[in-house]
Amino acid sequence: MTPEILDLLFPNELPTVAEIETKYPSRELPEGAVVSRLAPSPTGYLHIGNFYQGFMAERLAHQHNGVFFLRVEDTDQARKVEGAVEVVLNALAHYGIRPDEGRTLDGEIGDYAPYTQSERKEIYQAYAKELVAKGAAYPCFCTTEEIDLVRKIQSKQGLRTGYYGHYAKCRNLTDDEVLANLKAGKPFCIRLKSTGDYSKRIVVDDLLKGKVSLPEYDVDVPIIKGADGLPTYHFAHLIDDHLMQTTHVVRGEEWLSSLPLHIQLFNLMGWQPPQYAHHALLQKLGEDGKRRKISKRLDPEANIEYFAEHGYPQDAVLEYLLNLMNASFEDWRKENPTVSVFDFPMDIHKISNTAGALFDMVKLNSIAREVVARMTAEEVYDKVLTWAKEYKPDFANVLENNREKCISIFNIERGIGTKSRKDLFKWEDAEKETEFFFQTPAFDEKLLDPIAKDDVVKVALEYAAIYNPSDSKEEWFAKIKEIAGANGFATDMKAYKADPKSFKGSVSDVAKILRVAITGRTQSPDLYAIMQILGKDEVLTRLNLNDRC
Ligand code: GLU
Repeated sequence: MTPEILDLLFPNELPTVAEIETKYPSRELPEGAVVSRLAPSPTGYLHIGNFYQGFMAERLAHQHNGVFFLRVEDTDQARKVEGAVEVVLNALAHYGIRPDEGRTLDGEIGDYAPYTQSERKEIYQAYAKELVAKGAAYPCFCTTEEIDLVRKIQSKQGLRTGYYGHYAKCRNLTDDEVLANLKAGKPFCIRLKSTGDYSKRIVVDDLLKGKVSLPEYDVDVPIIKGADGLPTYHFAHLIDDHLMQTTHVVRGEEWLSSLPLHIQLFNLMGWQPPQYAHHALLQKLGEDGKRRKISKRLDPEANIEYFAEHGYPQDAVLEYLLNLMNASFEDWRKENPTVSVFDFPMDIHKISNTAGALFDMVKLNSIAREVVARMTAEEVYDKVLTWAKEYKPDFANVLENNREKCISIFNIERGIGTKSRKDLFKWEDAEKETEFFFQTPAFDEKLLDPIAKDDVVKVALEYAAIYNPSDSKEEWFAKIKEIAGANGFATDMKAYKADPKSFKGSVSDVAKILRVAITGRTQSPDLYAIMQILGKDEVLTRLNLNDRC
């Protein structure tokens, strides 16, 4: 195309491609280092799938002496939400994932700036201009209506839809026609003049999918949009991943069908494409028992915030995702119970990627139980407090005003490795689990059905009379047996089972009476430890059922 046309297409002063290339020095990294990135669109929301992908990319970079950076892909200005980048960065930081470079919570870091695509407009335009000058791209003046009409005609005839082959009308405009259109002020976008042949196939080695064979891409896609002169994703990622020297692109498999286009673009520019890794989308079982994509619309857990809000320990979420990536994670964890989750050698080649990873809350919960079981009471306290400060300030006050007591509560049945109690696995449940230590629970005699009320009251009062907080656990239990025997309850389970009719119940019913009187519930952790924490006066108040029924 003539210089006059080029100036009309790109009226602003642009740097030359050569100038741009010199501004992006080659990365001095060891052989085999991985440079990967997370490239979110700032929509104010981080999908669990994007987090999963970012974590995989981060692991890949940091396990291979490389760099993990964050680039903001905001070329779709209509979808842009204020503060959205911070949402992503804070969500990552919550899990200890910090980009080394790009947009970070400490501002923009790195030699390959700017890392926000809307600030790189000139760069994309400079490359697009060069492609137009070479005849590898061209301006297209078709209106949306014209394009829609073509699509309708193609559909009607059962043809593949799109701007390709002889449907790519503007591909063959003469310079004079282009000039006339430009002078008439017609809006335009810049399209790639595709060199693909749809009847041929291209085979690409994907890190996760293995060898994939796909038809060549013959659609003349827009590379620079008409409306605002910003690039499309295809073009922007090409330029950025080249200039920023990304070695590995981890992204969702929804991009797989445009991979031939991306390879074509890299070849056209004479650049080495990065290694692509297209991960299967996270799925869940729908109501009908069938797998479906985790959906922003249907599933609250699609938003990574969900897990912070509900107080899932960070390590539980990370361990769960690593477990989805590599099935060997669980064995590794068993052998290495105390080391950081970031020490797990994630192996990208072992990611099972055929059917899509099934996101299973039951499994996540069970991992969370193991993670919490490994923590000390102090760690649990600190984490619950951090959570409560953000989501439950009243509860945070209770925690802060009763530090020692709370640590004792969290310490019940703890400290015996994975055999520790497993009832508390997300911090939002901590208030419910601890509230009876701070408030005398209502006494609900129905919980003790069918034990006669008179027996319930008598057992509690008689036990109160001999209760001594200095008793050892054995002495404590011996007294429960004693009360059982004195009130017609079997002291021995064997005897009870052999002849239940001769007893009002067994020693376990007596323990249940005490448990319900003291905790307000039929299930609780170790009652002896609970009574120790409550202290003599409170225990006696709770056992005095005469006042409470
Ligand atoms: N901005 C793209 C997205 O949010 C990123 C795809 C990529 O990582 O290349 O899907």
